Amino acid sequence: MSAAPATGAPELIVVMRASATAEEVQHVIALIEGAGAGVHVDAGGEGTVIGAIGDRAIVAGLPLEAVDGVERVVPLRKEYKRVSREFRSRDTIVTVGPCKVGGGHFAMMGGPCSIESYEQTLASAKAVKEAGGSMLRGGAYKPRTSPYAFQGLGLEGLKILRAVGDEVGLPVTTELMDVRDLQDVVDHVDMIWIGARNMQNFNLLSEVGRSGKPIMLKRGIAATIEELLMASEYIANGGCDELILCERGIRTFEKATRFTLDVSAIPVLKAETHLPVIVDPSHAAGKRSLVAPLALASVAAGADGLIVETHPTPEHALSDAAQQIPSAEFPAFVADVERLVSVCGRTLSR
Ligand code: PEP
Ligand code: MN
Repeated sequence: MSAAPATGAPELIVVMRASATAEEVQHVIALIEGAGAGVHVDAGGEGTVIGAIGDRAIVAGLPLEAVDGVERVVPLRKEYKRVSREFRSRDTIVTVGPCKVGGGHFAMMGGPCSIESYEQTLASAKAVKEAGGSMLRGGAYKPRTSPYAFQGLGLEGLKILRAVGDEVGLPVTTELMDVRDLQDVVDHVDMIWIGARNMQNFNLLSEVGRSGKPIMLKRGIAATIEELLMASEYIANGGCDELILCERGIRTFEKATRFTLDVSAIPVLKAETHLPVIVDPSHAAGKRSLVAPLALASVAAGADGLIVETHPTPEHALSDAAQQIPSAEFPAFVADVERLVSVCGRTLSR
């Protein structure tokens, strides 16, 4: 395997037979590297899969099909390559501390929209923990439509999130909006998420892809599924293998909900990509009474997890007051979700 992850477009994959010897694998790698291309080696499945990264004409011209130990050579024709199912047929399982997402592991992430204070975050986190949740969410840098609305506590919020996560025993995740805050976020959280409004902030995507942290990418409010996949390819291209996609509702003509949850995106994404797909029913709904039905629909459609807002006193919340589930009601909500998760053959990760 090459020392540094090769960046650039993988043009094809070489699927080795399960019986291929280490020498045969090495020989294929040497042929590809000898032609001036890079390799990406995945030995986690049945047989080793070698991605060839480089100039399409050079890579495609290599006579790899005839080499001993090679089962088949698959050209990657789509614009998104590393995240595609062609590149990796088995489900990626993302690990964030004790929490696993994907491949039958269901992650229940919960927490307040914004970190407002230590006490508020702790009360929310305790409910998430008591409910058997897998991860604590909380926004420190808030993407607000109005510049006069609460913008988040910034670094102070990150410190609260870390301290509360450690106190209750949950891994923590927060949104990164600005590359200038990357180091602070890396220093304080276990997983970084990129919010809907930055889904196509390509420089930010490339930077977080190189951060070494697990990343969750939310779908833009007017982004197609294909655009979400292309955006995730920027992150994967930085060397990030621990990547999760999140459907959070899209803008349509419908006004009864804040956004329209695109339930179809779940099975479409699961077919197109090996990455775990989770759903944020809170931002899609905009109203707390709709969060549970949308959450259950998402589980039934194949989601690998949920991220849901919960606040100890939603009426006093500094952001998204109407959609946050009161923390006292969160355990009952999770119990309903967990019942359906097990009926669907998956296990809640905790
Ligand atoms: C959030 O999760 O806090 C958030 C702002 O979500 P989105 O980016 O999906 O609007
Ligand atoms: Mn919110």
